[in-house]
Amino acid sequence: MAVLVLGGAGYIGSHAVDRLIAKGYDVAVVDNLVTGHRAAVNPKARFYQGDVRDQDFLNRVFDQEDIEGVIHFAAFSVVPESMEKPLKYFDNNTAGMVSLLEVMNQHNVKKIVFSSTAATYGEPKQIPIKETDPQIPTNPYGESKLMMEKIMHWADLAYGIKFIALRYFNVAGAKPDGSIGEDHHPETHLVPIILQVAAGERDELSIFGDDYPTKDGTNVRDYVHVVDLADAHILALEYLKAGHDSDAFNLGSSTGFSNKEMLEAARKVTGKPIPAKMAPRRAGDPSTLIAASDKARKVLNWKPQFDNVEDIIATAWNWKQTHPEGYNDRQATK
Ligand code: NAD
Ligand code: UDP
Repeated sequence: MAVLVLGGAGYIGSHAVDRLIAKGYDVAVVDNLVTGHRAAVNPKARFYQGDVRDQDFLNRVFDQEDIEGVIHFAAFSVVPESMEKPLKYFDNNTAGMVSLLEVMNQHNVKKIVFSSTAATYGEPKQIPIKETDPQIPTNPYGESKLMMEKIMHWADLAYGIKFIALRYFNVAGAKPDGSIGEDHHPETHLVPIILQVAAGERDELSIFGDDYPTKDGTNVRDYVHVVDLADAHILALEYLKAGHDSDAFNLGSSTGFSNKEMLEAARKVTGKPIPAKMAPRRAGDPSTLIAASDKARKVLNWKPQFDNVEDIIATAWNWKQTHPEGYNDRQATK
């Protein structure tokens, strides 16, 4: 039977597909390539190009494949864009989930592992953030993902579709052999932007805000390596296959690094000066986000391999140096 990975041509999805294949799973991928890359998909996976919201297309995939469970990464995830275009997010993310669950239910596929996010918590009341803490998103992206979690809850009660919501904190790094990595256009995430400066593609890093109530005034985030994150999805799928109930898990390192600390770490890893300047706060940025991730370690037996940010940055730098233009397919896929 196959695992269906929706959004498997994206940054995190492509790493999950790669890990599934490495562990011997039969994998099918659905992606419309709106932000993903065909070249990122492991050639051993079957690829279907199409949109999650297109139920005719999705029905054909589910007719063709014998699916044991789905892992759902397909979504938009740029916070500032979601503030300007909220409906785009509710349409692609939230309506996409409704479409997927309908098709799953019609085909009697009852297991889904889902990309949720720390953005569903909003401004935390306490650090580290626990899975049981209030979820009050401060932007439409986080809201769209929280709605997806709630929709899965009701679909579980009505149709018995079991779900695991994995709430990622900050994802970074690349497959250590440098064959796949992060390639977003435009890039908005801190680590790849720092490395674009290191590579001479940008003049300097703008650090958004240095007047937060943190150790050095810059935001503090919790970084997790993309391969460790990918592995958590496989554990979550196996957890559902073992008959466990629906649940949610934070995925992070439980350690916080400030933006200035990340810059210093990248300077050390790359040996480059990486010029930086202070810039105004970015709208919607919580001061500190650190996960309590002991639940995933205990219940899913998740054992992240990367436990320091320099090692995480080193894998991203390896990808950057071997693929200065990413997948170099912007004309081919768009
Ligand atoms: P990404 O943009 O690289 O990957 C998303 C993939 O989904 C792309 O390949 C895109 O083409 C595809 N897609 C989007 N809408 C689709 C649709 N309607 N139909 C079919 N395919 C569609 O993003 P990513 O960084 O890999 O993130 C993956 C998931 O993880 C997202 O759901 C995101 O919300 C979540 N997440 C990411 C982070 C992070 O730090 N990158 C943090 C928390 C949560
Ligand atoms: N950030 C920054 N400059 C940039 C990009 C990001 O200072 O060019 C900061 C951002 O304000 C946040 C942290 O880096 O404090 C992580 O941002 P990212 O977008 O990578 O992830 P987020 O925490 O928003 O999910």
